[in-house]
Amino acid sequence: MQCTEVDATPWLCFNPHVEKDTYIALGSNLGDRELNLLRAVAEIGKLPSGKVTALSSFYETSPVGVIDQPPFINAVLRLTTGLAPHDLLNRLQYIETAIFSRKRTICRGARTMDLDLLFYGDEVISDEILTVPHPRMAERRFVLQPLSDIAPDLIHPVLGISIADILETLRSDETVVKI
Ligand code: AMP
Repeated sequence: MQCTEVDATPWLCFNPHVEKDTYIALGSNLGDRELNLLRAVAEIGKLPSGKVTALSSFYETSPVGVIDQPPFINAVLRLTTGLAPHDLLNRLQYIETAIFSRKRTICRGARTMDLDLLFYGDEVISDEILTVPHPRMAERRFVLQPLSDIAPDLIHPVLGISIADILETLRSDETVVKI
């Protein structure tokens, strides 16, 4: 295990010998949404001990929950990383707040960048900071559709079925259009 001091994260720990395939959902509905996503992909690609190994198409999607807000652009990427799960979440939150100046004010409201950790290998994690697999991903077409682009056969470690099968049985009226 190596620990180094990096930016706002005092101690960042990773084990370069235990790399995991992780999946991260990206969403933006403020500013230049496509440019925001491309910037986020680049920033995630710069994280230590990792590399972006797949990226979905981009989709324009209708907002869910708080519906009185602009449409989102969503995508999903695969990051192969030696970062530990909480360190990875910490780095994603740093990108949201420091790079995109996101303020956590209105819950599920408009935002320049939202980054969610969907899967960390096949690990199941549930504590007060992090839940993996992401608890709401299986109800969200705006996550499942791009995830299915890059990992249709991936098995959800809790539900025990593939992403393609979850997507096929999903009933929702969200609009998700490839751009
Ligand atoms: P949001 O404002 O929607 O980005 O939610 C962020 C909050 O969800 C933070 O407090 C995180 O600690 C928490 N959280 C729990 N599990 C996850 C996850 N898998 N990915 C991203 N945020 C998570």
